[in-house]
Amino acid sequence: MDKAAFQKLFQENTKDPQWCPGCGDFTELNVLIRALAELASEDREIHKNVNDFEEMGISGLEAKICKSCPEKHFYPRYEPHTVVTESGIGCAGQMFAYINTYGAKATHGRALPFSLGLKLARPDLTVIPQGGDGDAWAIGAGHFANFAGFNLDITYLVTNNEVYGLTKGQMSPTSPVWLKTGVNPTGPIREPMNPIAVAVSSGWTFVARLVNVGKLTNGFNTAEFSVDILKKAIKHPGSSLVIFETECPTYNKVKTKEWLKERTVPISDVEPNYNPALAIDALKLSLVPEEEKIPIGIYYQVRRSTLHEKLGIEKPLINLKPDREKIKKLLERYS
Ligand code: SF4
Ligand code: MG
Repeated sequence: MDKAAFQKLFQENTKDPQWCPGCGDFTELNVLIRALAELASEDREIHKNVNDFEEMGISGLEAKICKSCPEKHFYPRYEPHTVVTESGIGCAGQMFAYINTYGAKATHGRALPFSLGLKLARPDLTVIPQGGDGDAWAIGAGHFANFAGFNLDITYLVTNNEVYGLTKGQMSPTSPVWLKTGVNPTGPIREPMNPIAVAVSSGWTFVARLVNVGKLTNGFNTAEFSVDILKKAIKHPGSSLVIFETECPTYNKVKTKEWLKERTVPISDVEPNYNPALAIDALKLSLVPEEEKIPIGIYYQVRRSTLHEKLGIEKPLINLKPDREKIKKLLERYS
C-alpha cells in the first residue's frame, strides 16, 4: 500500500470534525494523518521481503517482532490497527475521533497517565496522546513535568493556541500578557509559562515546535516540514513532545494565521550552528519572544534508555483472553 492509500485509510470511518472553520486543530490533524500514512507505507516497503519475524505467542495479537532490522522492533507499527490516539479534554482533545486509529478519551489533563498504563501493557502499539495548552499545561502540568523522566516511548502532541477554546476564551498557562478576550478583557495578570524550557529541563528526550501555515513568503513549505519532523518524533525511542503553534480564530484574535506566518522561521535560519543534543541551546532558543520570531524544528533530542528498556519489558504484558469468571467476581464485589 502506498502513502495515498494509507492516508485514505486513516480518514475512513471517522466523524466530521466539529471545530470552528479555520481552527488550527485541522492543521495538526492533517499533519498527523500524513505522517502516519508515510510511516506506514515506508514500513511496508522496508519489510516487503522480510521473513525474519518472531511470533509473540499471544493469541489474537497480529504484531510480531522484526529480527531483521538492526533495532529489534514490533511490526506493523504505524498502521491504523496498531496506533492509539488518546486525549484529555478540550477542543483539541476531540482529535482521536477524527482519525481512523484506536482511540480513547481520558479525563482532563490525564492523557499522559493513560498512555503510561497503555504503553506498559502493550509496547507493540504506537501511542499518541494529544491535547491543547490548557489540558497539557494547567490541569495536566504535574503529569507533564513528572511523566517525562520515565522516558516512555510515546509522542505527545500539544496544540498551543494560548487560550481555552472550549470554555470560551479563558486564559491558559501560555496566554501572553497582551492577550485580551471577551471573558478576560484585561488580559492575564501573570507571565506565561515556557513549555519548551519546562520540557527540556524535566526529561523529555525529543522536543519539537511546529507551525503549519502552508508556504512562507520565501517558499518554505511548513506543511512538508511539519510532516517530516513529526515522523522523526514518532520514530524517536523515548518521550517525544511536539508543540503545534496554532490559531483559535474564535477566541484568540491576535495569534492568527497571518501573525504566525510573519514570525515562523526554521531553527537553522535563526541559529546556523544549532545543536539539538545540547539542552542549553534549546533553553536559550526557547526564550526568543514569540512576538519577534517563532523558530520551528527540533529543539532537543537525546537518546536515553526508555522505560521498557529499563524494566526489561520486551513483549506485551496483557492477556488477550481474560478470565471472564474472575472479572465477573470482581465486578460483583464492587457493585
Ligand atoms: Fe478551534 Fe477555538 Fe473553535 Fe475551539 S473555539 S474549535 S480551538 S477555533
Ligand atoms: Mg488552547
